[in-house]
Amino acid sequence: MTHLLHRSTRLQPRRAVAASGLTITDSEGRDYIDACGGAAVSCLGHGHPDVIAALHKQADTVAYAHTGFFTTEAAERLGDRLVADAPEGIGHAYLVSGGSEAVEAALKLARQYATERGEESRRHVIARRQSYHGNTLGALAAGGNEWRRAQFRPLLIETHHIAPCFAYREQREAESDADYAARAAGELEQKIAELGAENVLAFVAEPVVGATAGAVPPVGDYFKRIREICDRHGVLLILDEVMCGMGRTGTLHACEQEGIAPDLMTVAKGLGGGYQPVGAVLLSERIYEAISGGSGFFQHGHTYMGHPMAAAAALAVQEVIARDDLLSNVREMGAHLRARLEEAFGSHAHVGDIRGRGLFQAIELVADRESKDPFDPAHKLHARIKAAAMERGLMVYPMGGTIDGVRGDHVLLAPPFIVGREDVDRIVARLAKAVEAALGEIA
Ligand code: PLP
Repeated sequence: MTHLLHRSTRLQPRRAVAASGLTITDSEGRDYIDACGGAAVSCLGHGHPDVIAALHKQADTVAYAHTGFFTTEAAERLGDRLVADAPEGIGHAYLVSGGSEAVEAALKLARQYATERGEESRRHVIARRQSYHGNTLGALAAGGNEWRRAQFRPLLIETHHIAPCFAYREQREAESDADYAARAAGELEQKIAELGAENVLAFVAEPVVGATAGAVPPVGDYFKRIREICDRHGVLLILDEVMCGMGRTGTLHACEQEGIAPDLMTVAKGLGGGYQPVGAVLLSERIYEAISGGSGFFQHGHTYMGHPMAAAAALAVQEVIARDDLLSNVREMGAHLRARLEEAFGSHAHVGDIRGRGLFQAIELVADRESKDPFDPAHKLHARIKAAAMERGLMVYPMGGTIDGVRGDHVLLAPPFIVGREDVDRIVARLAKAVEAALGEIA
């Protein structure tokens, strides 16, 4: 009997009692390789001594000071660091407690930018289907994951969804990458025309789609086109890098690989590596100037924003990643992981796609490779794979994404940046066994 409301009222989660490096140990003494960083969070692995030391130090100095009264050295230093490493044009950082809060703040910053400029009519947010931007009502409204939204739809602000850039599912046979990128980005142009550019506030997208579709990278110059369309219509571009950012794809920010910079960017998860709940919105100088030269006050805030313990953890995590050049390991081990996945699943009858960037890789399971038909959702194949992997001492992040009304199953891998070659080999070997076991259950 528990008094905690867990995600499932039917399944009691295992109890974690220790965690170190890539491994989490449960109360029955079983070890699990964390091959997904929880939900792409634990980028440094567990129990990193430098982060723990930084947390002790911060707790001994200022554990909490409300931002209505004080700023702290930890928060200021994190802001400086985030801006120094940010894409061009980003001038400030706003610190919050996680991804959903970051998305909410980004939406509000976009709206306040418009109102400060007297563009009151700008209110429509455009996002993409098969995306996830968080579970609070504003972020849920922006997201395009119907399974998560359906029940709460009456509470959601109106948002507009266009097709994602999802080559495996949406690129036509014989359509070049350039043509597909143009067609997919063209949907934004059409939607803006439909709504009237003067009414459109922002476009929100994950550069590499995470939880909903499983490490889906964009194609060709899709994001360059999106940037150009936004600029032409005065629409702000919000890139949600909560899952794919902070080094996960091999560059600090996933948008670096697209050669574009956003107006607003959200980061979380890998920012603090799970050592504290922390997220941030990075905002362009022009948004900052509209507010500083206007009302001078961002009409938003949370009790725990700019929390010094969270900032200290994030700073320590980011310092270790830079000091130990872990992004090189993300690129090297990402390539190795991809090669191992290709070996294990490249000709598997029920693996339709292997995709991703860096240490952000996924496989998509299909009933039939030719037709790409997914398995019957009633089988809950993704949940079976998760359970079979846990039985084999492996944590992976499987999801049944909604693909325009059709449910499909994928498994996301996002191991910590400290992962080694042998760890990768072990992860893929255990995953292959878990996939076979789960498929065997539904055969
Ligand atoms: N945005 C993206 C892209 C995410 O993947 C997530 C979480 O998975 C969120 C936002 C929400 O973040 P949080 O769960 O920290 O609120």
